[in-house]
Amino acid sequence: MLTWDRWTSAGALERPSLRTWLAALPERDLLRVSEPVDLDYYPTALVLELERQGRSPVVWFDAPTGFRGPVITNLFGCRDRIAAMVGVPPGGFNAAWSKAQGQPLPSIVIGGGPVQDVVVEGAALDVGRLPISRHFEKDAGRYIGSGILVCKDPDTGVRNLSYQRLQLKGPNRFGASLHSRGHIWEHLARARELKRNLEVAVVIGAHPAINLAAAAKVAKEVDELDIAGALMGEPVALVKCRTIDVEVPAFAEYVLEGEILADDYEDEGPYGEYTGYATDRSTRNVFVVKAITSRADPIFHDIIPGYSAEHLLLGRSAREAHVYLRLKEMVPGLIALNYPKSGTHFHAYFSMRQMAKGQARQALMLLMGLDPYIKLAVAVDDDVNVFDESEVLWALATRFQADRDMFMVPDAFCNRLDPSSHDGVSTKMALDATMPPGWEFERNAVPAEAAAWARRLLAS
Ligand code: MN
Repeated sequence: MLTWDRWTSAGALERPSLRTWLAALPERDLLRVSEPVDLDYYPTALVLELERQGRSPVVWFDAPTGFRGPVITNLFGCRDRIAAMVGVPPGGFNAAWSKAQGQPLPSIVIGGGPVQDVVVEGAALDVGRLPISRHFEKDAGRYIGSGILVCKDPDTGVRNLSYQRLQLKGPNRFGASLHSRGHIWEHLARARELKRNLEVAVVIGAHPAINLAAAAKVAKEVDELDIAGALMGEPVALVKCRTIDVEVPAFAEYVLEGEILADDYEDEGPYGEYTGYATDRSTRNVFVVKAITSRADPIFHDIIPGYSAEHLLLGRSAREAHVYLRLKEMVPGLIALNYPKSGTHFHAYFSMRQMAKGQARQALMLLMGLDPYIKLAVAVDDDVNVFDESEVLWALATRFQADRDMFMVPDAFCNRLDPSSHDGVSTKMALDATMPPGWEFERNAVPAEAAAWARRLLAS
């Protein structure tokens, strides 16, 4: 078990943070690597091998070769752990998210915090000294994929949190790609109209609830930190950055303060993306760092990118919860929604209790309309566990006929990172594997008491 004093080195009471979360992590969920490890490829190789073995511990590297450690990764590699991050049991994340989104908790700005215990700026500044990994062979270089970019709407001042890949380019320089065209991309366009750069703070190593909220695609008027506060059960404490007009979590590990240049572009990429392929599709932006602030003994948080369970689970947890909430409003019979890992972010399965003919089709259309990433949507009945892909495929095998139960929508807006898409559009496919009306076949079953007996016998 890791332990930290309840008091930070600056004398402030430690609030919920990455390190308080780590200190409470059960020992069986942590793999600690004390031997020296080269950050180029080896952390990625280890996490991918763990995944092949069906294991998903948080990985802690004590001694990255050539850098001041430690580095941790694979925080988000396990769905049940993600639920625990927001204080709910397995399967409870969507409900917790709905509640937090409905009742956000505004953050508060405090006078100072441990994330500013050390401030490096000017000639001493060299981001290359941070323990930044190189992940895949095709990557253009060392990348930060775990950084939460905090910026503000130039007109309204509403904060925005998001992830954008950052390629290390020089002592104070990163290449950035804003290709997901989110709010930060709109804010940069507006800053350009106002003839200025966009101030951005990159937060590395925050309470995991903040990471989860930063992955959400919520309305522009919503500050993702307020959802994070609701998920944590207390307002996120912020401090003002030293060199820019942006606030950041006071109990984070590292912050890079700087700006994305309005009018400068440079090649960026390729980088191993969530699809499992390297891509140099990039908006080719430049992020210039003005200051690095950190704790006195900072922990660097890395996210293994590409088609890793951690990257996909982090990317989709909030999205899945958000889409579930909106779908449920229109489809009261909706039971569960799963974006399976096998589909990267392009496939979704949902189960529902169908009350009338055609409801599954309505839900399929809604789902494909709500999330432009989706290109295969599958509807099943409530007796099918959508988190078990073999059950979904069984429902397709036994309750589905392609001529009757499938429809397609060609040339619909999609995510451009899908290598099989063309010109930003793809074909959406909906499969209705629910039982048709008048279905007379009964699934094989055993009495509930016999199943309970079997569970008891095996548990003892
Ligand atoms: Mn936003």
